[in-house]
Amino acid sequence: MPQFKTYTARLVRTLPLSDYTKHLEFEMKDLPRFGFVAGQWLSFKHRKADGEEITRAYSIASPPGENNRFALCLNRVENGFMSNFLCDLPEGGEIECQGPFGDFILRPPMRDLLFIATGTGIAPFRGILQWLLADSTRHQNKSMTLIFGNRTEKDIYYHEEFLDLAERHEKFRYLPTLSRGDERWAGLRGYVQEHVPDIAAGRSDMHAYICGLDKMVKANRDLLKSLGWDRKSILYEKYD
Ligand SMILES: Cc1cc2nc3c(=O)[nH]c(=O)nc-3n(C[C@H](O)[C@H](O)[C@H](O)COP(=O)(O)OP(=O)(O)OC[C@H]3O[C@@H](n4cnc5c(N)ncnc54)[C@H](O)[C@@H]3O)c2cc1C
Repeated sequence: MPQFKTYTARLVRTLPLSDYTKHLEFEMKDLPRFGFVAGQWLSFKHRKADGEEITRAYSIASPPGENNRFALCLNRVENGFMSNFLCDLPEGGEIECQGPFGDFILRPPMRDLLFIATGTGIAPFRGILQWLLADSTRHQNKSMTLIFGNRTEKDIYYHEEFLDLAERHEKFRYLPTLSRGDERWAGLRGYVQEHVPDIAAGRSDMHAYICGLDKMVKANRDLLKSLGWDRKSILYEKYD
């Protein structure tokens, strides 16, 4: 088994994203710069009161930069140990982690891109999109579409950020869709997969990235394959 270096991450800023979800910003202690590729995840570990060591994966929700910082987008899972431990961590609190890990990262050559997320599955796409849109040589003028599914408008994490990115970058299309939107909601309705054919039918020259819970990931992979997509053009990250 390879030995991975263990880092200590210190929580520097917390922002509520909804009643059950938080944006957490950390810095790696004693490191001037922490390198990773947008879309990767970290493995966090902490010991329970009974001595059992728990490790859980969390996607990095920020782009890499010239510093030691990274962010998480974290949902409290009912009776879950790690998600509640991290959501209850006070600013200045510390936790051990290892990584970065994972190959849910942009694949060359650059193609038109479809990102599909529900809930905290948005985390890797926040990092990937901020990284891509910061420099046109990265996206090479390809189109980027994000279909982001949630129940209600208050559940749309980072909504203002994505609206702002879409306003500033004509190649980026932001399509939030609500399964239980109220009558004031003027955007898309229903599940993410209901809107995928509009973007993806006849477009097997694109790459799709899907992130969230298994059921949603499977529904969208099956749909893309039924639209004639090669499975190698479909990358996914499952949270459960
Ligand atoms: C590669 C990867 C990246 C991930 N990134 C994120 C992320 O960015 N943000 C995030 O919030 N989570 C993410 N997860 C999920 C995360 O790793 C944990 O599974 C989740 O936080 C629950 O851990 P816990 O210790 O709180 O609960 P546990 O004690 O493990 O579980 C408690 C109960 O909840 C159920 N459960 C477990 N996971 C989930 C889940 N994700 N949703 C609903 N029910 C669940 C279990 O079946 C169990 O019954 C990621 C998972 C993977 C594999």
